[in-house]
Amino acid sequence: MSNVIVFANQKGGVGKTTSAVNLGAALAENHHRVLLIDFDPQGNLSGSVGLFQSEKTIYHVISQQCTIDDAIHHIDAVQMDIIPSTMDLSAASLELAEATDREFYLRRAIEPIRHLYDFILIDCPPSLDLLTINGIVAAKWIITPVQCEFFAAQGFLTLLFNTISRIKMHLNPELKILGVIFTMYDSRTRLAQEVIEMVVEKVGDPSLFFQTVIPRNVKLAEAPSHSKPITLYASNSSGAERYRNLAKEVLERVKK
Ligand code: ADP
Ligand code: MG
Repeated sequence: MSNVIVFANQKGGVGKTTSAVNLGAALAENHHRVLLIDFDPQGNLSGSVGLFQSEKTIYHVISQQCTIDDAIHHIDAVQMDIIPSTMDLSAASLELAEATDREFYLRRAIEPIRHLYDFILIDCPPSLDLLTINGIVAAKWIITPVQCEFFAAQGFLTLLFNTISRIKMHLNPELKILGVIFTMYDSRTRLAQEVIEMVVEKVGDPSLFFQTVIPRNVKLAEAPSHSKPITLYASNSSGAERYRNLAKEVLERVKK
């Protein structure tokens, strides 16, 4: 059965989408079968592999306008599959709000194809709305990217972890935190290191954090505009190297 991993953090701009596409590419490079699911109406994950206006998206799957097979796009250059999203998906959160089993739509949607992949990576919007909850309910693992900046040390991780434990208790008992990953680390500033120390202390459990830290790296920011993950766009950059390292850690952690 595939490892379904959701990228969740209600804060925007922390590196969810960047981590989803680049971890996916690093896993695919090692011949793992990877499916990316863009579950954010902003469609940034789709855009970062060059898909901007898809006719069949995750919205059409959720609203049963097409089968999940029809919505899977293969990206030759990186040997990954993706189910894209567009603004339509924001309608789904309104439509779902009425349904009694509204938290389970994505989980049910991916059931028929779960066995086809080693990893299914779900990218969520920057909120704790019904879409994110669907993402977390569909997953076995959560990865939370945290940007190395002052506001990371504020209360929002606690809120996220409380939400995760409630979802685990009521909706998805198999759910586990795979790890928190620090992103946009700037080794030239003392602040970045201080933020890491503060956040780790606040959370209290160092084993929840990946050893790999993602540096602030201009190539990582440029890659999406070339429709490529970092492993293709700048294969020898520090960003590519770190996401390959993260992939190794992920493989170790899912085995445990
Ligand atoms: P989220 O999905 O959490 O909103 P993104 O992955 O879209 O965050 O990242 C926000 C912005 O920061 C994007 O423009 C992205 O290209 C850029 N970015 C992400 N990670 C890095 C990094 N490690 N170094 C430099 N820029 C980054
Ligand atoms: Mg995003």
